[in-house]
Amino acid sequence: MTMKTIVNTIILKGYDLTPIKSNILIDDGKIIEISNEVFEGEVIDGTGTMICPSFLNGHTHIGDSMIKDYGDGKSIEELVKPPNGLKHLALSECSDDEIISSMKSSMWNMVKTGTTHFIDYREGGLKGIKLLKKAAIDIPINPIILGRDPIFHDDQATEYEVRKTVVKLLKHCDGIGLSGFSEVPKKVCEIVIEESINRGKIPSIHVGEYLKLQKKSLKETGKTEIENSIDLNFKLLIHVTYPTNNDLNLISKNNKFVTLCPRSNGTLTLGIPPLTKFMEKETNILIGTDNIMLNSPNLMREMEYTLKTVRAYYKKYIDPKKVLKMATVNGCKKTDEYLDKDNLNFYSTVNKTVIEEGNNAQLLMTKLISKNPYLNIINRVEANNVVATIDKDKVLYPNE
Ligand SMILES: [Zn+2]
Repeated sequence: MTMKTIVNTIILKGYDLTPIKSNILIDDGKIIEISNEVFEGEVIDGTGTMICPSFLNGHTHIGDSMIKDYGDGKSIEELVKPPNGLKHLALSECSDDEIISSMKSSMWNMVKTGTTHFIDYREGGLKGIKLLKKAAIDIPINPIILGRDPIFHDDQATEYEVRKTVVKLLKHCDGIGLSGFSEVPKKVCEIVIEESINRGKIPSIHVGEYLKLQKKSLKETGKTEIENSIDLNFKLLIHVTYPTNNDLNLISKNNKFVTLCPRSNGTLTLGIPPLTKFMEKETNILIGTDNIMLNSPNLMREMEYTLKTVRAYYKKYIDPKKVLKMATVNGCKKTDEYLDKDNLNFYSTVNKTVIEEGNNAQLLMTKLISKNPYLNIINRVEANNVVATIDKDKVLYPNE
């Protein structure tokens, strides 16, 4: 990308997304200068626009892009429970080429709506990982791939076989994303966590997605799924729709990342996550769009749904800036000032940064339709108001 200065725009700077009116100089994929004095290289008039950090989608399964809206109205167990859920049976009928081209279209949808990074829960073992990498090859997006293997669900598999499979997967992906405690033996969880952490990668699992799972876990193990996931040292917890007060305290005390997927919970009639409680505990929260089968991967839609359903259901004000942080800065590398030693593997694997001089340019530029820049993104911007998605030296102008 040639050196360019975008002038006279509103920039949401730093960890606190502080709005400032400024020019921004980008060269060689980096933010060189943020000031009103800079006019170097190609000068682009940014009047009537704003720039915020590009989005990190904290949870997707883009492998089911072929079967959008399939099975609507079925229960979560019927639909997605491995290995014989309707989703898995439907996907087994699709060719590799179909899967690849549908994943490509989902990734383009993400880039066009401001996402440069997404954490994908990739099924189908090593082959599944390779298909996603092949699909992503010419798209300006960064998939963070958490793999898994059918052997995890095979109660005949030995510990040696499981460990060998985990190690092999981790050579090709960024961590392991398990479906849930009710489907995977504890020993598999332990191996996944040990091997992932030793290799600087991310061990993750779906937990507490619906009340029945939490109750079943309490009955069988004396602890909730969420307590068990923390005891075992999973780093990134998905859904957490039904935490107990003790779970909420443990998540916060142990500095865990939680990805909420409110539209997925809504589609599957599972409830509305207690975002106000997470915010009181200052939890590290990300937001994700979950299966493409259930939702489009457009995070602006997810943020709007989240802000309004949580305000409506819990009858409490939620600050839109905090919702925008869930899709942007919450997953970004922490500087010394905000050092977070528990999650260094997460930050180095995801490799996303806030808008500051010297950082990589990972930016979303949109039209400024509202005077409130946070609600501008959450409440106003449509895909056709996106001016540019910038990921280091790659720039996409989706509406040109
Ligand atoms: Zn999921």
